[in-house]
Amino acid sequence: TMAADTTNGTAPGGEGNRQRIFNNTPTITILIPCYNEEEALPALFDRLDGLRSNAGETADYRFMFVDDGSKDATRGMITDYAATREHVDFIFLSRNFGKEQAMLAGIDAIESDAMAIIDADLQDPPELIPDMVDLWLRGYDDVYARRRTRRGEGFVKRMTSHLYYRVLQAMSPVRIQVDTGDFRLLDRKCILALRRLRETGRNSKALFSWIGFRKIEFLYDRDPRVAGKSKWNYPKLIGLAMDGIMSFSTAPLRVAFCCGLVVSLTAIAYAIFIIARTLTFGVDVPGYASLLVVTLLLGGIQLLALGIIGEYLGRVFNEVKHRPGYLVQESKIDGEHQD
Ligand code: UDP
Ligand code: MG
Repeated sequence: TMAADTTNGTAPGGEGNRQRIFNNTPTITILIPCYNEEEALPALFDRLDGLRSNAGETADYRFMFVDDGSKDATRGMITDYAATREHVDFIFLSRNFGKEQAMLAGIDAIESDAMAIIDADLQDPPELIPDMVDLWLRGYDDVYARRRTRRGEGFVKRMTSHLYYRVLQAMSPVRIQVDTGDFRLLDRKCILALRRLRETGRNSKALFSWIGFRKIEFLYDRDPRVAGKSKWNYPKLIGLAMDGIMSFSTAPLRVAFCCGLVVSLTAIAYAIFIIARTLTFGVDVPGYASLLVVTLLLGGIQLLALGIIGEYLGRVFNEVKHRPGYLVQESKIDGEHQD
């Protein structure tokens, strides 16, 4: 299932011979954000055990589960799994903070040579990670998995996400990876870089692009979720999409400005036309309907522009509060348990 495409998103410097050399087996931590995943965990544990036993000498895989305030048996299952395995760590957040913050909690704690991010529902097959590790060992810093197919996802979801990427790219100054989620392998350089980005309204897609480094894509077939239900719904997705656009660029503000400009210029031209007409043909009373249309249109545009400004202002408000993105309830990091 592997097809590395060196023409896509490769950073300056090209491929060259950048083989990474390690004295000891490099450690790679797999970060797994979980929220109410009790149904998916048994299968996930099996596949992770399989990954470790097949790894051989190339990599020492560790697992970091971040529980994002689950209300089901997820925490107990992770605790049990970690109890007998030295290479399994976990962080339990104090409530549900969302996947973005759950990933940040992991990024803050992971001290390995590289890190991979996968979903708990096995939509991102862990068996692909060794191939991604090969690319990392050849010198790439960010091996991002791009979906070739999206089985188990409806037509509408596929269409909207396709459209979303295109809009985002049109507005963004940095190159955005199309059909790419959070499934990727990141070198330590990238982990340290991501740690420095402390914004509140996090959008990983934006941040992964923004940090740069040597990127390479890796095509894969996205599986349907093994068990349980997706936590996403349309209101949540629309919120995330708006966040993405607004945290990527200030283009919407410019759109509001351009609308204002076009409407004002049209109004001036129309005024000149009316003055000329009145001077030539005398006073003309009708015009009630056009007056109403113009008033409503202007009112609408003004409200829209205010709304856009408000969105940015709200973001500024959230940033200046400087709240931590997540809080930890309990953790086991590098074998050290804290409660
Ligand atoms: N997730 C999370 N916090 C949330 C929602 C989801 O940590 O508030 C995790 C979830 O457990 C899963 C991953 O994020 O491991 C992706 O979630 P999901 O499968 O529901 O999203 P989809 O694949 O449908 O986009
Ligand atoms: Mg999923």
